[in-house]
Amino acid sequence: MNFYSLNEQAPNVSFKDAVIKGIAPDKGLYFPERIEPLPPTFFAGIADLSHQEIAFNAIHQFVSHDIPNDKLRAILAKVLDFDFPVVQLEENVATLELFHGPTMAFKDVGARFMANCLGYFSEDQDNEVTVLVATSGDTGGAVANGFLGVQGVKVVILYPSGKVSDIQERQLTTLGQNITALEVDGTFDDCQKMVKTAFLDKELLNEMQLTSANSINVARWLPQLFYFLFAYKQVKSQGKEIVFSVPSGNFGNICAGLVAQKLGMPVKHFVAATNVNDTVPEYMRTGEYNPKPSTATISNAMDVGDPSNFIRIRHLFQDNFESLSEKLSSYTFTDDETREAMNHIYNTSNYTADPHGAVGYLGLKKYQENNPDTYGIFLETAHPVKFLDVVEETIPEKLEIPAQIQKVMNKEKNSIKINSYEKLKSFLLSN
Ligand SMILES: *Cc1c(COP(=O)(O)O)cnc(C)c1O
Repeated sequence: MNFYSLNEQAPNVSFKDAVIKGIAPDKGLYFPERIEPLPPTFFAGIADLSHQEIAFNAIHQFVSHDIPNDKLRAILAKVLDFDFPVVQLEENVATLELFHGPTMAFKDVGARFMANCLGYFSEDQDNEVTVLVATSGDTGGAVANGFLGVQGVKVVILYPSGKVSDIQERQLTTLGQNITALEVDGTFDDCQKMVKTAFLDKELLNEMQLTSANSINVARWLPQLFYFLFAYKQVKSQGKEIVFSVPSGNFGNICAGLVAQKLGMPVKHFVAATNVNDTVPEYMRTGEYNPKPSTATISNAMDVGDPSNFIRIRHLFQDNFESLSEKLSSYTFTDDETREAMNHIYNTSNYTADPHGAVGYLGLKKYQENNPDTYGIFLETAHPVKFLDVVEETIPEKLEIPAQIQKVMNKEKNSIKINSYEKLKSFLLSN
């Protein structure tokens, strides 16, 4: 399938080119030319399908022609080698645990899928591809892990010094090989700005093939739709209308959920739950989209003031506010409310939620106030251990460090400090 730029000033490209470019030359996000619904028999029989079969059916139309079926199946087998359980906490309230991958946050699937696609595409290319990515926390680790050792691909990760958790920092600074971590004296917004400047820098682009591994890249964004199908498979027999509440930052994950719905998956409603970075809740309330600088919170992976994927969501609904409002609600919550929710979930369900999942829980409960007879699923986007300090401060529980995390705890951090775009540029040109 081909992809077009949402800015409509660039040629349509294949899946392969969309992945390699990351963003269109007119700076628009790529979007698939069509979203062909899957047959009703697929959803009727989904309980009998394996994760890999579900994923193959769902992603095939977007990827076909560029990756042969047997290769695509092999990639999916590698990407999906862990579990995605739905755990029921209360009547009509369940959580979809997306943290059983190697870096224990949901970004593992998208990062691994993209890494495998790019690895495949660069097999027949002479030029190395450089992946440049800014992270507010979890993306860096997932990308570093997913791309480690992939031939023909170099990865450069920018992260804000002192503003990611200890575990997150170790996950992105200790791997070595084709992965370099640049520690930026600044905020996530500064990192993001440097990356965006690099993508516009003609001098750089003449020297190297740069691509992004943020969720603007279609190979990172689209596979996230698998989660919603895996959840549907597990709760379909409930027989109730399903609501998903997605803790959202850049809005890539929830946008993928809306694509799953376009594919024909029966869902009543989506809730985009945010921390105090409330650009989208404000938009859903007022119809006005006013991006603002991000505010630091305890759910740091969602500290985004201008969510890059929201434009894709608007496009999915032809920019029709009414029809978008029928399918999507969005609510904002403070850190205090988030901590209270973590406590509440712990006390009533004996379950440890991380701050992001707790925001999702709050969004779900708010929606269910007026829609009680729905089966609600909130996404647990990261393992609580990734936010050890916040979690142990908030609930009376000592967390056990899982083996995946233990592995990086003893490794030595390796980063290069930078404080300006010029430093980033000279690093890229000299490596
Ligand atoms: C990235 C991330 C989010 C936000 O996902 P988006 O697709 O950017 O909306 C939420 N929770 C965690 C733990 C994350 O790492």
